[in-house]
Amino acid sequence: MTFSIFGLAVSQGIAIGRAHLVSHAIMEVAQYQLRDKDIPAEISRLEKAFATTAAELESLRAEATAPGSPAELSAFLDLHTMILADPMLAEEPKVLIRDRRCNAEWALVQQMQQVTAQFDEFDDPYLRERKQDIVQVVERVIKALQGKPRKLAKRGKDEDLIVIAHDLSPADTIQFKNLRIGGFVTDLGGATSHTAIVARSLAIPAVVGMHHARPLIQDDDLLIVDGTRGALIIDPDERILEEYRLKKTALELQRSKLKRLKTAHAATLDGVDISLQANIELPQDMADVKAVDADGVGLFRTEFLFMNRDDLPDENEQFEAYRTVAKAMMGKVVTIRTLDIGADKEAKALRGAERIQPNPALGLRAIRYCLAEPQIFMAQLRAILRASHYGKVRLLIPMLAHASEVDQALAMIEAAKVQLRAQKVKFDEDIEIGGMVEVPAAALALGPFLKQLDFLSIGTNDLIQYTLAIDRTDEAVAHLYDPLHPAVLRLISLVIQTGQRAGLAVSVCGEMAGDPKMTRLLLGMGLRTFSMHPSQVLEIKQQILMADAGQLAGKVARLLRMEESERVRELLVKINA
Ligand code: PEP
Ligand code: MG
Repeated sequence: MTFSIFGLAVSQGIAIGRAHLVSHAIMEVAQYQLRDKDIPAEISRLEKAFATTAAELESLRAEATAPGSPAELSAFLDLHTMILADPMLAEEPKVLIRDRRCNAEWALVQQMQQVTAQFDEFDDPYLRERKQDIVQVVERVIKALQGKPRKLAKRGKDEDLIVIAHDLSPADTIQFKNLRIGGFVTDLGGATSHTAIVARSLAIPAVVGMHHARPLIQDDDLLIVDGTRGALIIDPDERILEEYRLKKTALELQRSKLKRLKTAHAATLDGVDISLQANIELPQDMADVKAVDADGVGLFRTEFLFMNRDDLPDENEQFEAYRTVAKAMMGKVVTIRTLDIGADKEAKALRGAERIQPNPALGLRAIRYCLAEPQIFMAQLRAILRASHYGKVRLLIPMLAHASEVDQALAMIEAAKVQLRAQKVKFDEDIEIGGMVEVPAAALALGPFLKQLDFLSIGTNDLIQYTLAIDRTDEAVAHLYDPLHPAVLRLISLVIQTGQRAGLAVSVCGEMAGDPKMTRLLLGMGLRTFSMHPSQVLEIKQQILMADAGQLAGKVARLLRMEESERVRELLVKINA
């Protein structure tokens, strides 16, 4: 039976394919309430998952007893089989399902947390470590409950693989770069979460904030992801499939027509030159940057070099990555942002320094983290400075709010320069240093930035989050995340005007820069440098070529006087018409 569910459209396009269910983290299983009549079925679902897991362990044991297999493997399987059979895990969750009417995954994780909490108290390290075994066993059962397949689902010739997850971290999503993933859908997430940003950078259709998609979908279900409308269509009939195949072809045609703009010079109808730069996460994104002939790299999110690994990239490894990008751009600007770790961007290797933060988006992230971890910061600064010898590298500092942070960051850059000079290592002595304006305090009190920095880059994703007090990753408040809120627009306009008046180059590198509905608005505010995912560059260029910057300035000045988002929206529709 065909049915549709809706979430937040975060990455445009259409994917038609088979569902591949993944579980990201055991702690992130969905919680839902059952009706009384569904309780017996839920208990039997849990029992079946235990039976599947037991069978899985049994078949692994057969492999483990084959000649040449390590003895530890067999011991480990014995232990896991024993844990699986323990009534604390096998029986207690059933009580929770009955008493609290909660789903099996949730009951199991609750029980696991209770059991493992006691393990932290043990003095004996061997016993303490057994906690991990319990977690692994529970993870197996959860996967069996959620139907996670051992292998990727089979695909037809024209079918993509569609990843369905309760949640995906940016670190999970970046791994899609190496896989053929057609689209993805998550129950959690906001439109400018880094997971969504990575999806757009990969140009794969994605819908987030679905709430309950995962429990409704089985592996191998035929799905359509409509990343433009924010819809997921499950088990579409032939008529709907045909309609979407046509839409998909039309979109592809539109995209391929845009390719003709690659060599066109980006200038408005009244002759104002615009710089269209690219945001990248990893050096391998350079192929996409080249494919659209972007005018530079406006934002290199270096924290992605730190993800999906157990160690830290050292100075040399970082240097190689930055140099690769600097050289590939052959003299065009390359803006390397220092580590913006924290909030939704995590790196395992940095966990040692991680503190429990009640509100990570307001906590020790970005420059705050770097100033608290000078060794990590220093290694990165030296790597960036060294790479500056090989191209037009600029250094960008995220999330500045205080004059003291600018002072400290500049002092550390100076110290890194002194070290390199002493070692006779070459670097660009005049490297430009810029600051991201993404905290309202910075936008309103730009003085220290203007005096000490060479350029500004407006991070609208965070600026919106902090201005409106909306967690950009939280789908529950996603409807309040509004780039067109008058307060947001006035801050952006203020930074552009004040920065340019002081003679600083100002760019926007948040998601607004790559949204064609925002191009005229930003042009009218006076913006001349846009940085976005490579996949958006040609579409934005098309908008630029059709716009008249002079005319837009007057219209946008009127729009900025509006007091309500709705009025802003209405006027913007007219401006864009
Ligand atoms: C922003 O906040 O707009 C930005 C570009 O930085 P990030 O999305 O990486 O936080
Ligand atoms: Mg930011």
